[in-house]
Amino acid sequence: RNVIHVCMTGCRAYGAAEVLQSLQDEVKRQGMEKEVEVRSTGCHGFCARAPVIALDPLGVQYQEVGPEDAAEIIGLTIKQNRLIDRLAYKEPKTNKPIYYRDQIPFYKKQERRVLALCGRIDPTSIEHYIAAGGYQALVRVLSGMAPEQVAQEVIDAKLRGRGGAGFPAGLKWKFARQSSANPKYIICNADEGDPGAFMDRAILEGDPHSVIEGMIIGAYAMGARFGFIYVREEYPIAVEHLNCAIAQAGELGLLGENILGTGFSFDLSLKMGAGAFVCGEETALMASIEGKRGMPRARPPFPAQSGVDGKPSNINNVETFANVPLILKNGAGWYAQVGTENSKGTKIFSLAGKVNNTGLVEVPIGTSIREVVFDIGGGIPKGRKFKAVQMGGPSGGCVPAQFLNLSIDYDTLQKIGAIMGSGGMVVMDENNCMVEIARFFLAFTQSESCGKCSPCRLGTTQLLEILTRITAGRGRLEDIETIKEIGRTMTEASLCGLGQNCAKPAISTLQYFLKEYEDHILENR
Ligand code: SF4
Repeated sequence: RNVIHVCMTGCRAYGAAEVLQSLQDEVKRQGMEKEVEVRSTGCHGFCARAPVIALDPLGVQYQEVGPEDAAEIIGLTIKQNRLIDRLAYKEPKTNKPIYYRDQIPFYKKQERRVLALCGRIDPTSIEHYIAAGGYQALVRVLSGMAPEQVAQEVIDAKLRGRGGAGFPAGLKWKFARQSSANPKYIICNADEGDPGAFMDRAILEGDPHSVIEGMIIGAYAMGARFGFIYVREEYPIAVEHLNCAIAQAGELGLLGENILGTGFSFDLSLKMGAGAFVCGEETALMASIEGKRGMPRARPPFPAQSGVDGKPSNINNVETFANVPLILKNGAGWYAQVGTENSKGTKIFSLAGKVNNTGLVEVPIGTSIREVVFDIGGGIPKGRKFKAVQMGGPSGGCVPAQFLNLSIDYDTLQKIGAIMGSGGMVVMDENNCMVEIARFFLAFTQSESCGKCSPCRLGTTQLLEILTRITAGRGRLEDIETIKEIGRTMTEASLCGLGQNCAKPAISTLQYFLKEYEDHILENR
């Protein structure tokens, strides 16, 4: 049977709902209800060409589809099977171009493991998830694996936390299990807040059961009886799909008492965040779950000893949990086939900014920046020159062109003053002013600083003042040293990661684009 997968998440903003409706109407009009299913799915990744639809089993994709294309798609491509006559990727202009998915440069170098079902299943259908192999990992875990074995398999797979810090996920579970206090909590951090980042959103909207399955497995490994998903309220589709998925899992006995008759019990609920960026920080997030103001606190004690309500708690982010079923279903050996020595598997990036193919990209860890920006991203629009890429959001650094061949990995990026972060990649071209970029990110972190500790509260304000002064043509040469000094103080003395890292955009642009700062200052003398 032919299935037309219509992205009804990100593509909605480009009229996907009208496309879906017109395809359904056309199927009816041509009497093809038995032969064709029009399916509402998550993101196909190629956001630059929205709305995108994919046709299976033909293996083709239409891009920038409008409601007016429905008659041709149903009548010519599917009914008359005109595709056979067509040359892949070289369509005559007379018809809507069709692309064989495996020949589209955007997808060629990607390894879509975590995103495999996004854009393929209806995210509101647990049957679709199960038919695609979902919950097999959970069945394997609960049919005879000891909790310690589960954590060890994740340790062997070298899965590092995809939220930014890169701490081994299985090790975190092991530490939480070793704590004798009870109850224990497992938490999914779905408070994705970096400007330009939408990886977690796509997973939650397109494949929510993968996150829930990962959490149930994690809960079993660490001995948690209850879990929370802390999700942004600004993600209404993600919230809707998560609520639906939790209810469906409960109805099938995959959540609640005595799961699958194994004696293991686990329940899950959503907690919605109210848009504070700092609530992505572990201790602030837990305070928010407790109903308090979301402010970080000093560590120790660490959440593994004292988290929500003073009980051992483990936090992983959305993408980390979505990797877990893959490991437990296919084994650590399979999982570790891709990646670098210390970081296995794939990483999802949201590619944004001055790049032709913006969208969601999943590649093996260790792929070079050049491959992501040029081979997958299609390079810079209008033939302009690549200048830099901001990795890791407002806490990350700007990576200049000299590092284009650098492999993207937690450790390599740290060496050059950037971080992997959660996966935001914002590309800049030769026309971007790097001082303005640093000012933009500082304006964001300054407004998001919770104000609890003075190095961050005062440091972000002072840095923003200086950067604004420089971009406004009122800078002084001594400002450069002051930025470095404030940055050092903030890194060493701030209470949480926000303050410790938020000077990075300024420090890294100073390191690699000093002349732009000097030009701003000197040209107005
Ligand atoms: Fe708040 Fe900034 Fe201090 Fe973190 S570093 S606690 S965000 S003031």
